[in-house]
Amino acid sequence: MKKIINNPNNVVSEMLQGLAKANPAVVYLGEGVEVIARREKKQGKVGLVSGGGSGHEPAHAGYVGKGMLDAAVAGNVFASPSPDRIVEGIKAADSGAGVLMIIKNYSGDIMNFTMSGEMAALDGIKTDYVVVKDDVAVEDSTYSTGRRGIAGTVFVHKIAGAAAEMGKSLAEVKAVAEKTIANVRTMGMAMSPCILPGVGKPGFTLAEDEIEIGMGIHGEPGINREPISSAKDIAGKLLGKIFADTDIFEGSEVAVMVNGLGGTPLMELYILNNEVQQILEAKGIKAYKTFVGNYMTSLEMAGASVTLLKLDDELKACLDYPSEAPAFQVAGAVAGGETAAAQAVEAPVHAAQNDDAPVQAAAPCGDEDSTPFRLSAQDYVNYINITAKKIYENGDYVTSLDAATGDGDHWANINMGFENLVAASDEMRAMPICDVFKKIGMLMMSKIGGSSGILYGGAYMAAARSCAGKAELTNRGLCNALEAMVSDMMARGKAEPGMKTMIDALYPAVQAYKAAIESGKGAAETLAEVKKAAVDGAEATRGMEAVKGRASYQTNKGVGHLDAGAVTMSYQIECLCDYIAANLI
Ligand code: ADP
Ligand code: MG
Repeated sequence: MKKIINNPNNVVSEMLQGLAKANPAVVYLGEGVEVIARREKKQGKVGLVSGGGSGHEPAHAGYVGKGMLDAAVAGNVFASPSPDRIVEGIKAADSGAGVLMIIKNYSGDIMNFTMSGEMAALDGIKTDYVVVKDDVAVEDSTYSTGRRGIAGTVFVHKIAGAAAEMGKSLAEVKAVAEKTIANVRTMGMAMSPCILPGVGKPGFTLAEDEIEIGMGIHGEPGINREPISSAKDIAGKLLGKIFADTDIFEGSEVAVMVNGLGGTPLMELYILNNEVQQILEAKGIKAYKTFVGNYMTSLEMAGASVTLLKLDDELKACLDYPSEAPAFQVAGAVAGGETAAAQAVEAPVHAAQNDDAPVQAAAPCGDEDSTPFRLSAQDYVNYINITAKKIYENGDYVTSLDAATGDGDHWANINMGFENLVAASDEMRAMPICDVFKKIGMLMMSKIGGSSGILYGGAYMAAARSCAGKAELTNRGLCNALEAMVSDMMARGKAEPGMKTMIDALYPAVQAYKAAIESGKGAAETLAEVKKAAVDGAEATRGMEAVKGRASYQTNKGVGHLDAGAVTMSYQIECLCDYIAANLI
């Protein structure tokens, strides 16, 4: 790996700092926040936020500027940003008229951004969102249900940005963004792989003379591999796939984007554009405006994509509207300068996490009359520490499961999350149980990452709501909290039991818990049944085919291996039941 970096762990923060130093019109909100925001804030304007994994520069930080985005939130390379970061982006973008989030269609991004919208609502900020799915290559992909969002997203930034700058309302800006999404299509091809700074070697290989049609911007599979051909032939294939998808472009006016993936010279992009324009002309399609350059890249991957956006008068007016975003300047406007800097937006402070929720110190949550145990914050923190150890000790096993069925990072993710929970032990012991859950939710969201981070984070937030204002949990209160967790997880992750996920351990445990309480069983017997249901549930994932998460794209769909997420979920339920049985009843 030959890269101009200092430390693979710092690439995102150092990149954004460098970007901010090249553009006085924006501010960098700090390490760990990883947001680039406009300095100048126009009161009463709809705020626009986008973001996603890093490695696609200039997306999205390069599109922050007057007439385009107000804030861009960066995740780690090819990984969605967590909600704590996105919420800071939303706050930086908000000036009282609401905030529209522009999300590329990847499962992690959707879960993290929508959760952030829920959290911003608690701070009184109205948000809405649109999801860009312009890639016609494949229907479902490694990281998305439905089409992926790629270079066409830049047109959505541009057009929504203009509408917001013109003073349109949140609903109006959303409507024009949706119109753009409905009329934009992209198709790409790759010629060589990219290398993630933290990995050091290519994620796939292509033969010397081979290209992959339809490959995604993370190197995820496209439609087919074939020998490299002429620029004319490639232009024909890319546009052919777009035309096969829709007839909306026939006889229309379009905006064209010929986008480089990072490792292809502009010379070749112009040659490709030359061919693209000839095909459009032959079809009677008028190129109203054409953009050639690196707009949505994939590190150093070589290759290109072609995007067409069908225009009407409204979209044209928005496209023509001035933009000062450094990576997409329109009408020669000059960015930033001293006037803008003088009106600096103050970097928002982090949200205080435990300031609301009035607490009734002595009131437990659940059926007060028949409660055989009380679970306090002290207990919960003790249990978390025991679980952290169990997870830590099973690192090799869990990693081997996820390597066989997923992308191999689940143990590292969840272990990192639990290390952070353990580090917050002292702080949490002093809180009521509802606030402990809220704190755990926030930490899991920001520290675990991946799909499981946001799913656990959302689940713990739901658990906190189920016992709002309560200092302790009773037997039924705990059952309610677990039920709230599984409901939130299923709603957010769109997974049902039987899809080979952690739901397969949690769902049966909750069902067993409810059934045991209904039939009046004692706590000891109840918890034994809950534990057994979780362990059996995890075991049952061995025979299941994965349909959610990355495991579903493995050729054997993980059959024959337990799901890593189900196993770590069963550890947690097991430790919880054991802790209560040993210490509280
Ligand atoms: P990622 O899938 O982003 O790499 P992790 O590796 O941390 O995240 O977690 C993988 C685990 O997350 C899987 O083993 C599965 O149990 C769980 N999972 C993935 N997607 C979903 C979903 N949509 N609903 C519930 N659980 C899921
Ligand atoms: Mg994983």
